[in-house]
Amino acid sequence: MNFTIKNTLINFTDSYITTDVQVVNGQITAIAPNLEIIGTEINGENKLLLPGFFNAHTHSSEMWQRGAIPPLPLELWLSHLYDLTPLDTEQVYLSALGTAVETLLSGGTSVVDHLVLIPGQELETIATAVRAYQEIGIRAFIAPLIQDESLSAGIPNGKIDLNHEPYFRSTSETLAIIETAIKQFHHPEAGINILVAPTGIQLCSDDLFTGCIALSNKYNLCRHSHLLETKAQEKLAEEKYGCSAVQHLQEIGFLNNYTTLAHCVWLKETDINILAQTQSTVVHNPLSNLRLGSGIAPIIKYLQAGVNVTFGCDGASSNDSQDLLEAIKIGSILHNVTEPDYQNWITPRQAIEMASLGGAKGLNLENELGSLTVGKKADLVLYDLNNLSLLPRTDPIGLLVLGRPVNVVNSAWVNGKKIINNGQITTINIDELKQELFNRSHWETQQESVNVANLAPHYRQVMGLN
Ligand SMILES: [Zn+2]
Repeated sequence: MNFTIKNTLINFTDSYITTDVQVVNGQITAIAPNLEIIGTEINGENKLLLPGFFNAHTHSSEMWQRGAIPPLPLELWLSHLYDLTPLDTEQVYLSALGTAVETLLSGGTSVVDHLVLIPGQELETIATAVRAYQEIGIRAFIAPLIQDESLSAGIPNGKIDLNHEPYFRSTSETLAIIETAIKQFHHPEAGINILVAPTGIQLCSDDLFTGCIALSNKYNLCRHSHLLETKAQEKLAEEKYGCSAVQHLQEIGFLNNYTTLAHCVWLKETDINILAQTQSTVVHNPLSNLRLGSGIAPIIKYLQAGVNVTFGCDGASSNDSQDLLEAIKIGSILHNVTEPDYQNWITPRQAIEMASLGGAKGLNLENELGSLTVGKKADLVLYDLNNLSLLPRTDPIGLLVLGRPVNVVNSAWVNGKKIINNGQITTINIDELKQELFNRSHWETQQESVNVANLAPHYRQVMGLN
């Protein structure tokens, strides 16, 4: 667990310096040139050391459907996804590993898994994800995805009075499951954290939100939710509350400095001010927002208002990968077309900080993670600057963010434990994982979805598409 990285390049006040970094018992203990070697010596020459990034919003089990769902907006895409689930716990295990591997190989050392639960096997699902993340060694924030309304309730009624089927599990049963999960699995010191995570206002009652707030207060847990991902959700919030979803969430007390909110595409100025006031964090999922046609989140406005922003890949069937560097790239340059003043555009260095310190802040861990600082935990990634995709030598961070980096992670550590060595994951057998993913799937063409066919006419009408 003790090591000293010699002569590595690090980011220092808009420039670079070559230095040594010492790690003892999982903590960064010194950053300076010519340090004595403690533990293993790591050759950092021609390599760039950065703090690990956060994949701050994903749904690991969606890996089983990646590439399979046709181009559809969120509400119909979700109906199609429902056709293809539920999965079994063995699949949950394999897709959690797969999600962790792709996150690690693209610079992430932490993952927030808004974990889809198998009905009737909710605790087994969470236990399985815990096992997978502990085996591979990524820092995991498991946010069991809960709701208490049926899928059709997520689409605005419009002028019609619609009755939705009741959800199969009661609100109190759902909250009881989450409390048990917290007691069993929330072990931050072991790298496993449980979050309270109602899926969003579109499918959750106020009782579910307030129940989650109570659990968050009782056990000191972070909060996570989707927020205003689509235009339809904006309309739905007006129907449900007579105000914006953000105003409502503030009123019921869900927003605070350890709440992370995925997407945040359809917010007004007043909503943005509420996020700033409450110190909530926006998780930007640009690829998913493009894939589902959800819109472009006003990230530059958030940054200007002082709102903390970080990046996520979102589930692998709305992306359809878990390449964090790709999400960081698109999530940065996308806004150059919406913001006329180039002085406000996101720079590569800013993007790196959003992906690392921004993620740590959102999870209330900015004093422990997110930067190369003496005293912080050693969640570190060493990039190979001799890699073809990072040559010729120009600005390493510019290349990493704006380029198309391929297999650039040389080494990665979580809490000082080495998980990637020479570009290879060391903690699990990747060939076995590949074989299992292969064996448990088959080539197929896209199927027609009964759920989508049923919901599409109402969706088209309410969204003015007829
Ligand atoms: Zn999501």
